[in-house]
Amino acid sequence: MAIEDTFGRSLEDLRLSVTDRCNFRCRYCMPREVFGPGFPFLPRGEILSFEEITRLTKLFTKLGVRRLRLTGGEPLLRHDLPVLISQLAAIPQIENIALTTNGSLLTPATAQILYETGLHRITVSLDALDPQISTRMAGVPVDPAQILAAIDAADSAGLGPVKVNMMVRRGLNDQEIIPMARHFRYSGHILRLIEYMDAGTGNGWDRTEMVSAEEARRQIEALWPLDPVAPNRPSETARRYRYRDGAGEIGFIASVTQPFCRNCTRARLTAAGRLYTCLFASEGLDLRAPLRSGMSDDAILQRLRECWRRRTDRYSELRGSIPPPTGKVEMFRVGG
Ligand code: SAM
Ligand code: SF4
Ligand code: SF4
Repeated sequence: MAIEDTFGRSLEDLRLSVTDRCNFRCRYCMPREVFGPGFPFLPRGEILSFEEITRLTKLFTKLGVRRLRLTGGEPLLRHDLPVLISQLAAIPQIENIALTTNGSLLTPATAQILYETGLHRITVSLDALDPQISTRMAGVPVDPAQILAAIDAADSAGLGPVKVNMMVRRGLNDQEIIPMARHFRYSGHILRLIEYMDAGTGNGWDRTEMVSAEEARRQIEALWPLDPVAPNRPSETARRYRYRDGAGEIGFIASVTQPFCRNCTRARLTAAGRLYTCLFASEGLDLRAPLRSGMSDDAILQRLRECWRRRTDRYSELRGSIPPPTGKVEMFRVGG
């Protein structure tokens, strides 16, 4: 039975973070100074097994979840991920399974396996075409040509149209907005420009470093006029536009300047089995202990139901008017 939170929002989407580890150290997510070699990532025993994730996902479908997104950390670091995908794809109520990746491990063979085991769509993050800039953003050497090849491979495998996430940070990669837009015009892939957010605790966010979606759109429109496109669903995070000259679609994720909390139907499960009802929450509901202590499906379902019914999250609408929360969950734990 579908449920609603205190603002009448239903629960439709579940983001599953399958690992807290990552082979990148993006400055805006896992800056190396904070998440260096000694950082205590989750030991194996504290990470939910595929069976535990699948069991919880089945319970979430009873409350209305129809769409899944696998994320992380870097989800392709999780061993045997296709096995999980096939288990999730076998849940009859699940209509769509997507994955967000940095693309570094996405070979043509991997893309093919992901598609064959039941993945529907993929989002690849790429912040620049210039190798020096992408390396500076990622905190590790990144060859954009390799990520572009991965994007094409995913498309060829049937996972397209591929969405390409570009996180824009002023002074670091904002000069790449036009080259990226130019590259992805006529490609069939959908570039999405993301506003830099105050997620987690480690990136030292400063609002002046955020390039608003409006500013990015104006830059692009000065060269190539755009027309708005209706959203696919009310809960869609990106504002969609189409190039007037027929070059395809582009999106803007304006989480800071045009928050979309009103239609936020997303819950997030960390690799350690904590449920968060907002990307900016400090507290999550532990589901691992109930799972491992033999709690019944009905009793766990009751906890999930209560958690969603009590939900009051709307951080992005309140940003600036409330004191910044302390101890926010890290982005690499709950996924983007
Ligand atoms: N590692 C995968 C990747 O990078 O695609 C999946 C996890 S990552 C946390 C998901 C998305 O969050 C990425 O597209 C990344 O650009 C975005 N992201 C991370 N930190 C961000 C921040 N502070 N502001 C805006 N977007 C952010
Ligand atoms: Fe890793 Fe993705 Fe975070 Fe970059 S944004 S550090 S690739 S989890
Ligand atoms: Fe959803 Fe929280 Fe983001 Fe608002 S701030 S859109 S409630 S995740």
